[in-house]
Amino acid sequence: MAVLEVRECSKIYEGTISTRALDNVSFALERGEFVGIMGPSGSGKTTLLNVIATIDEPTSGDVVVEGQHPHKLDLEEMALFRRRELGFIFQHFNLLDTLTVEENIVLPLTLDGAPVAEMKKSSLELARRLDIESVLHKFPQEISGGQMQRTAIARAMIHHPSLVLADEPTGNLDSKASKDVMEAFGMMNREERTTILMVTHDAFAASFCHRVLFIKDGRLYNEIYRGENRQAF
Ligand code: ADP
Ligand code: ADP
Repeated sequence: MAVLEVRECSKIYEGTISTRALDNVSFALERGEFVGIMGPSGSGKTTLLNVIATIDEPTSGDVVVEGQHPHKLDLEEMALFRRRELGFIFQHFNLLDTLTVEENIVLPLTLDGAPVAEMKKSSLELARRLDIESVLHKFPQEISGGQMQRTAIARAMIHHPSLVLADEPTGNLDSKASKDVMEAFGMMNREERTTILMVTHDAFAASFCHRVLFIKDGRLYNEIYRGENRQAF
């Protein structure tokens, strides 16, 4: 069973001029896939992520995550679905400035009411693997951008979500930090089989993906496979 299925999704923003931000988009992600989405500004990438994340409703079509239809849930169930099944990573990190790195990482577990000792153990183990152990007790303003994004990766993955959605995760980072962050994604993808969907403008970041989908004017128009699945266009 696919982790994610986007089925014939369209999104029209009505206004003085109506915009077809998504035009009959369909694709599926299998467990453990690391897939990129690339396309020019205004091509529908954010809308697509928002529709998958249930932040935005498709005008038509459906999204299926692990056999569930999140858009058919009520608001409360939808919020729970997002918390349980999804992990989010953003360009601007979106860490909470008043919490330490460790407190940020365990936030999804705190919301689930996990025991403190268990949370500390999980965050330490993840922080070691992501090489941010030495900054666990610092605040986000005291660490580098690369460390902030690895903190965000730890937070997005600590509760083992079905699907991680990343929006331009290297958009704010220099080359060295981008490399560290993409290697962190790659490691989590390989070792935990975390399924990742990543929007990016960055060819270097896209080179870590198994597969890249290209979108333009709200339509998927091309797909490139890498590595074991190598196929020409
Ligand atoms: P990016 O190119 O980084 O994805 P955009 O500048 O396209 O970001 O959009 C940023 C935010 O503004 C998105 O959440 C999007 O939904 C919203 N947005 C984009 N275009 C419009 C618009 N014409 N009217 C209202 N909101 C918009
Ligand atoms: P991208 O993320 O690829 O930059 P978006 O998904 O943000 O693209 O936008 C796709 C199209 O939909 C653009 O033409 C944008 O202006 C429009 N759009 C996005 N969000 C809104 C909105 N909330 N209201 C109206 N138009 C929007």
